Amino acid sequence: MAHPAKEETIQVVKEIFRSYLKEHNQRQTPERFMVLEEIYRADGHFDADDIYFNMKNSGTRVSRATVYNTLDVLVECGLVQRHQFGKNQYYYERAYAYQQHDHIICQECGGVLEFCDPRIQEIQSMMEQVYEFNISGHSLHFFGTCSDPENCERKKELEDKEERKKEKEES
Ligand SMILES: [Zn+2]
Ligand SMILES: [Zn+2]
Repeated sequence: MAHPAKEETIQVVKEIFRSYLKEHNQRQTPERFMVLEEIYRADGHFDADDIYFNMKNSGTRVSRATVYNTLDVLVECGLVQRHQFGKNQYYYERAYAYQQHDHIICQECGGVLEFCDPRIQEIQSMMEQVYEFNISGHSLHFFGTCSDPENCERKKELEDKEERKKEKEES
């Protein structure tokens, strides 16, 4: 289901972001647009540090503060969605022209799967009727472990990430 955004989509979201920044008298810096592109060209769910390190590793000069601050603006303007998958950990993913979906999260390796089930839409419609309420959105995360938690696919990845975080805090 997941795949990087199309080129046209990236152009459209940049335009939306440009108008939003202008309307709110915020600075239109190239770095902010690079953060937006990073999220739309990559694929999946990232925490702010993932985004920062991915950009840094690919040679983009951007400060962590800019990444964090741009993410807040992108969430405000609705181009990026923020999810809370862990205790205090926020994850981000693109929101424009992307299918509505829900998540299954492995608590061992941090892996995130997406699924889409029309029955959730049916529940929503029914609840709107039952409670005479206009529902504007929902959030549904299933937590658990991969079927073989000892050999979780992304366990190694998560360990590397934790390691990187520790190094960063020490430096
Ligand atoms: Zn997702
Ligand atoms: Zn797992």
